[in-house]
Order: sequence, then structure tokens, then C-alpha cells
Amino acid sequence: MSPTQTEAAPATPRTQTEAWIEKAKAHLLQNYKQQPIVLVRGKGCRVWDADGREYLDLLGGIATCALGHCHPEVVAAAKAQLETLWHVSNVFYSEPQIELAAQLTALSGLPRAFFCNSGAEANEALLKLARKVMKDRGTPERFEVITFENSFHGRTLATVTATGQPKYHKGFEPLPAGFLHVPYGDLEAVRKAVGPSTAAILVEPIQGEGGVRTAPAGFLKGLRELCDANGLLLLVDEVQTGMGRTGKPFAFQHEGIQPDAISLAKALGNGLPIGAMLCSEAAGKSLTSGTHGSTFGGNLVSATAANVVVRYIRDPQVLRDIQEKGEYFSARARELQARLPTLIKDVRGRGLLMGIELQQDAAPIIARCREQGLLVNSAGEKTVRFAPAYVVTREELDEGLRILERVLTPA
Ligand SMILES: *Cc1c(COP(=O)(O)O)cnc(C)c1O
Repeated sequence: MSPTQTEAAPATPRTQTEAWIEKAKAHLLQNYKQQPIVLVRGKGCRVWDADGREYLDLLGGIATCALGHCHPEVVAAAKAQLETLWHVSNVFYSEPQIELAAQLTALSGLPRAFFCNSGAEANEALLKLARKVMKDRGTPERFEVITFENSFHGRTLATVTATGQPKYHKGFEPLPAGFLHVPYGDLEAVRKAVGPSTAAILVEPIQGEGGVRTAPAGFLKGLRELCDANGLLLLVDEVQTGMGRTGKPFAFQHEGIQPDAISLAKALGNGLPIGAMLCSEAAGKSLTSGTHGSTFGGNLVSATAANVVVRYIRDPQVLRDIQEKGEYFSARARELQARLPTLIKDVRGRGLLMGIELQQDAAPIIARCREQGLLVNSAGEKTVRFAPAYVVTREELDEGLRILERVLTPA
């Protein structure tokens, strides 16, 4: 399709990209800072724009396309489901959703699954769960959730309030009550913040949007102990870190702890919209019939795609491979940092969620990377985020770093 097919021919010839972007600017809500390319096709870690230019995609749909663009197995499964049954609502049972619940609960050790459509919704389910559990325990005064500075939990009113970044709150006040932000990684600060109204702690194992910041070793374990000592729920936001991204099925598993509940979304459906909340048997008892729900949650096509992703990451070799590629990338990025210490400040992350913090704003560098054929984005002001598909090769990771180096050191 051509963007201008319903309009008169333009006076000057334009590229397809220019025409589409003009149309986008006329009609889309201007709430994103969008990079000026229109992507039309993808395969693995490569995508192509409306004028046929090829890009190396090391962002992977912001950590969503776990198996890469149009992975043949996901395509085949989703196609077969599309030709069979799309959606029935949660008034009825459906096979792909039941299968997905069985797979995810086995993988996480959290025996109850609820399905929704996004990360924010999965986190809403966590927040509602925490309040309801405390009501059911007869402690309704416990409604507050402790979250962390620089965190990101979504854009709904409750999840944006949970998000510890004032720039996302601005203009949306009054914000819902019941959220407290403390410094990330600071157990003592959390201990001090716990009080008679605390219901839960909500934490990301790695702050993805906040700049790919990894929690110090022992932090999640400390939070688990604090929750146990005070009768709080430990809620882990695995929206970005879950589904194998860090080399374990879920990032909390690196610390050998068991949360009361977790949220999932990004990589779960390989790019199709689906989110999930997984919780313990005890906590799950509070969300009884009629207390929570979603029309599209666990849609058959999305759940079918998710089943392929879960089967894929259940293979220990796949997880080892993610870890090894992450270590490879990280070692190469540190070499680059050693060569360019005045330009690169830090290299962070785990598995295939990596951040390279620059000494300057990341935005202009990311724009020049795109012009050179590399797609990445920023996490925080100065960090370039890499969240490629798990099928990425070492050669592609090298290629990405070569482009970044070229952009950082123009001749
Ligand atoms: C992306 C993200 C969310 C929000 O997910 P949406 O699908 O955009 O609602 C929540 N938490 C974390 C950690 C995320 O990375």
C-alpha cells in the first residue's frame, strides 16, 4: 500500500519514508519521540524500511521479539491458530491458554497464572493482588507498596505512580495513594521505609528503562527476608528481564529466591501482545471469581506464540547460549570502553539485556547509529540499550559494536 494512494500525486517526488512520516505527523498522537524510519519487514535480527534499506536490529522490538522477527516456528504456530480460532474471551476455557499456564507455572515455581495484554496490566494485577491479600488477611491498613527510584512499571495511573521517575508523573496529579519510592539497591532504606501500612515491595531485578541497572548481588534475597520478617508480599517485575532474557527463565532465579508473584510481558509473545501475572497458591486465593479480569487476556493467537517461546527457553542449551552471548558482548563492550574511556562511562547488564552508558546524551548517537544501519534505543538519558533477539549471532553483536565505535569516533 502507498501512503498517498487516496490523495493527489505530490508536486515533488518523495521517498516512501517521507510520505509515510508526513501522514503519521498529521494523524498520530504526538506522544512518542519516533525515529524517522518506517519499518515494513523483518527476519531474525534484520529489518527493512519502506525504501528498502536494511538495518541490524539489536533492540528487538524493545526486548519483545525473543526468537527474532518472523521466526518460522512462531509464524507456523500462530498461522495455524489464526485459521482455527482467534478469541473466545475468558467466559470459556481455551487450550493454548491452559497450556501456557501449565508451562509458565512449571518454569517459575509459581503455581497460578493470570493473563492480560501488556506489562502495565500485569503490574496492575500485582498491585491489586497485594491490596486484596492484605484485606483478606484482616489487615486493610496495609495498602502501601514500596518501589524504587528510577524504576519503570508502566503507564497506567497506578503503574506510573509505582514508577519512581517524577518526569512520568508530571501533569497527571493527583496520583493514586499508596506508593513509596526508595533508592534502588539500598536495603537499609527499604528497611526504614517499611511501616504499619506497607503491603508489598515491587522490584525489577534489573532496571531496564531506568538505564539497565542491575541490582547488587544479594539485594533480592535481602528483600525476600525483609518481606518474610514483616509479612509483606515480594512482587518482582519481570516484564523486561523474564522469559530467558538474562540467561535464566526469570531473573529472580539468579538469586535463588521465590517471590510471591511476578509480572511478565515483553518477550512472552515474541512481539504479539500478551502479559501474565504468576503467583503463589496462598496469594492467588485472594483473586477469587469476579475480582479481576481482562477481555483479551490470554488471547488464543498470542498464547499460541507464547507457548513456542516458553518451549524454546525451556532448553538449557538456549539459556546457556544467551548467557554466553551476553558475556561475549559485555567483554567486547568493555574493550571498547577501554579504548574510548572519555566517551564510554560504563557497561552494564546481564544476558542479552545490556546497556552502554555514554559520557554524553545517547539520543544523537542513537540517531547516527540508525543512519549507519544499527537500531538501538536509549534507557535513561545516557545509556544505549541492547536487547536483541536470542538468535543474534556473535558476528551481529560485533557488527553492532563496530557501528557504535564508528559513530563515537568519526574520522
Ligand atoms: C516495558 C515495561 C513495563 C510496561 O510494559 P507495557 O507493555 O508497555 O505496559 C513494565 N515494567 C517493566 C520492567 C518494563 O520494562
